[in-house]
Amino acid sequence: MTMTESRPSPDFIRNIIAEDLKANRNEGRVVTRFPPEPNGYLHIGHAKSICLNFGIAAENKDGVCHLRFDDTDPGKEDIEYIESIKRDVKWLGFDWGEHLYYASDYFDRLYEYAIQLIKKGKAYVCSLSPEEVKEYRGTLTEPGRDSPYRSRSVEENLDLFERMRAGEFEDGSHILRAKIDMASPNLNMRDPAIYRIKRMPHHRTGDKWCIYPMYDYAHCLSDSIEGITHSICTLEFEDHRPLYDWVLDQLEVECHPRQIEFARLNLSHTIMSKRKLLKLVESGVVTGWDDPRMPTISGLRRRGYTPKSIRDFCERIGVSKRNSMVDVSLLEHCVRQDLNQRAPRVMGVLRPLKVVIENYPEGRVEELEAVNNPEDPGMGCRKVPFSRVLYIEQEDFREDPPKKYFRLAPGREVRLRYAYFIKCVGVVRDEQTGEITELRCTYDPGTRGGGAPDGRKVRATLHWVSAAHSLRAEVRLYDHLFLKANPDEVEDGADFRSNLNPNSLEILTPCLVEPSLANAVPGSRYQFERQGYFCVDTKDSSDKLLVFNRTVTLRDPWAKIEKALKKQSATGKKQPG
Ligand code: ATP
Ligand code: MG
Repeated sequence: MTMTESRPSPDFIRNIIAEDLKANRNEGRVVTRFPPEPNGYLHIGHAKSICLNFGIAAENKDGVCHLRFDDTDPGKEDIEYIESIKRDVKWLGFDWGEHLYYASDYFDRLYEYAIQLIKKGKAYVCSLSPEEVKEYRGTLTEPGRDSPYRSRSVEENLDLFERMRAGEFEDGSHILRAKIDMASPNLNMRDPAIYRIKRMPHHRTGDKWCIYPMYDYAHCLSDSIEGITHSICTLEFEDHRPLYDWVLDQLEVECHPRQIEFARLNLSHTIMSKRKLLKLVESGVVTGWDDPRMPTISGLRRRGYTPKSIRDFCERIGVSKRNSMVDVSLLEHCVRQDLNQRAPRVMGVLRPLKVVIENYPEGRVEELEAVNNPEDPGMGCRKVPFSRVLYIEQEDFREDPPKKYFRLAPGREVRLRYAYFIKCVGVVRDEQTGEITELRCTYDPGTRGGGAPDGRKVRATLHWVSAAHSLRAEVRLYDHLFLKANPDEVEDGADFRSNLNPNSLEILTPCLVEPSLANAVPGSRYQFERQGYFCVDTKDSSDKLLVFNRTVTLRDPWAKIEKALKKQSATGKKQPG
């Protein structure tokens, strides 16, 4: 976190931590962790958790946040994911320092702990089939039944568990279960599995193991081994907390972290499940995990989002105990605000229409001064070439202008940004189609810089590029990936993919941009005046063809929503959702 950013206002988690510090619990230490499973790329929901865990560590003296890969399930996990997760956490602006851990590094200790549980009569090897285990578990309204294997002796359990480890049994033939209470109203406490056989090599431990610990067992112990003080997780784990505590209580470990749950982020018009995101990648609906339409950190980065805008978003949504859906326009608002400060302005024409200035001398070129960022005078000025043949935006001309359309039309005068007033004096049509292919205009040499000495006004200022100097570019316009705010709302039998937005990507080419962009490096961000914020694509842009991703338009629907919300709360009405 950079020092210029404000401290997040205290939420219920920060309040708990402050109380613990006041009471001098954990010897005044604050140790948090971010524990992703390396089975996919990180998304904006993970960013919420990262900002929370690393943020809390940064706010507290000597606070530490661990990055721990929860890699207990070989098969779904991959080195590519590990590398991408590290890159994304760093890019967001956080640093785990020396504290990079892997749950798989604890496999020996977790095995020893399991032996201890067996010796205490707190765990047993169960040989029911997976279907039978399910059947015996009961339901929310009915208690479960004891497994017939529940009464196996300690010796028998030790022998079987050792042979599970040695690879004597098939996958699914035995599991090690915690011996808790098959009648517990909490299903997680009905003798949950803590080890299963999975005869599959692991990307870090190779073929050393063929039994792997289950999440609920491995997670609390990993937290404890690392001396985590506050184990922050999402609300679905609230019902798992008794199990978290049970495991640590049985084993009389030195460190018993406190699990605290908060509401996960749900964002409108997108999905957050890695399993579903993987489906989109595998079925080719998107070009990869970093497709700029994806809610992944790498997708947002490629789209042009800044780390600061994402941190700002995470701060604004806050932390609570109540699940809700955040409108994606808030995220867009945050990136707009940041880019407004930092993005240089340039002119780019997305759908070009040729303009010939009849009274401008052929061959003359003027270098006109343009301001790089009116929000930041320190960013200086640049020169933009002006000449007889220009391009403007097709939508900035109407042959029959409707009411309130103030841009260019036959006989009408407008301003060209940083340049002159021009007036449309004629149109040229394609002989076959009758379509307008060119506008004929005149300019007023006395209006250089954009003002008329006689004080006459124009009602529109258009962006433009010089035909001879402009660069060709491809521009990719993105819209929401899904049509519905909640893509999981589907017709009977349909998949979430039935809600995909068929128009989430529109490719425009050739677009024309001003020559100052000749040196634009991949990843750099600009405001195309009147159009939005754009970022040079890091994969497909080249010297031959510049490729831009539209990060976000200039229009800000969130500002309206916020205003309405403020008005509502001022008049005491209930806020929506
Ligand atoms: P998925 O269900 O999509 O696989 P996950 O929660 O299993 O996601 P993990 O890799 O286990 O993914 O998550 C790492 C951490 O990020 C966890 O602590 C989890 O609580 C947190 N996290 C995941 N999704 C969100 C979200 N939408 N909002 C806030 N935190 C999240
Ligand atoms: Mg998970």
